[in-house]
Amino acid sequence: MRKKIVVGNWKMNKTVAEASELASAILEHLGNSTLLCEVGIAPAFPALTEVGKVIGSSDIRLAAQNCHYEDDGAYTGEISVRMLESLGCAYVIIGHSERRQYFGETNRTVNLRVRKALAEGMQVIMCVGETLEEREGGITDKIVTEQVREGLKDVGDLGGVVLAYEPVWAIGTGKTATPEQAEEVHASIRATISDMFGESAAGNLRIQYGGSVKPSNAVELFAMPNIDGGLIGGASLKAEDFVAIVKAAG
Ligand code: 13P
Repeated sequence: MRKKIVVGNWKMNKTVAEASELASAILEHLGNSTLLCEVGIAPAFPALTEVGKVIGSSDIRLAAQNCHYEDDGAYTGEISVRMLESLGCAYVIIGHSERRQYFGETNRTVNLRVRKALAEGMQVIMCVGETLEEREGGITDKIVTEQVREGLKDVGDLGGVVLAYEPVWAIGTGKTATPEQAEEVHASIRATISDMFGESAAGNLRIQYGGSVKPSNAVELFAMPNIDGGLIGGASLKAEDFVAIVKAAG
C-alpha cells in the first residue's frame, strides 16, 4: 500500500512574514489530527528558513521548488541541493511545467537536477505533463512517456522519487482533469516505470496529480487506484483548503 503524499507548491507567492503566517495557519487547521498521508509545503526560497522554524518538528516536511545540478560555482541566481539541505528541506520539486515553459528547462536539465538531488540524498518530486495542444494532438502519452524516460535516465534507485503528473492545461485554470483522464495517464506512467525499473519499483512509486486540485474534487481524484496524492498550487495558499485536501488523502 502506497502512502499518499500531498505537497503545497506556493510558487512565487508570499513574503517571508506572509509565508510564516500561512504555515502557522496550516498547523492550526491540522490541529492534532493524525495524518495517514505525507505532507509537505514548498515556499519560495527566501521563506524556507522561517517556514522551517514554524513547522519545526511537526509532521509537515519542507520542500523547495527547484535546485541546480552543481555543488557550487558561478551560477548566478541558482541554488544548490546542499544549500537546500542546510535549510532542512526534505524534498525538492524538479521540472515543474512553469520551469519548462518559462525558464528553458528540458528533459535533459531535469534529469541532471534529479540525479544531483538523489545523489545528495534529497527526495525528488519530478513533474511531467502535456500541454493542451499536445493533448488535442493526441500525443499526451508520447510526451509524458518521454518526460518520464528522459527525466529518470540513469537513475539507479527510485526510492527517493515521487512523480507528479500535472497536465499544463489544468494548472491554475480551474479546469481539473477528470479522475478518469488523470488515472489513464497515471496508469501509463506506472507501466513505463515498470518497464524501466521493474514491477516492484513501479508498484511502490507514488504518482501525485496536480492541476486545479480543490477540496471539492480531491476525494474523487485521490480515490483512483494510481493517484497517490496531489501537488497543490492555488488551493495550497489557503490554509483551510490545503488542510481539507490533506484530509481527503487520509
Ligand atoms: P494549481 O493547483 O494552481 O492548478 O497548480 C498546480 C501546480 O502547478 C502545482 O505544482
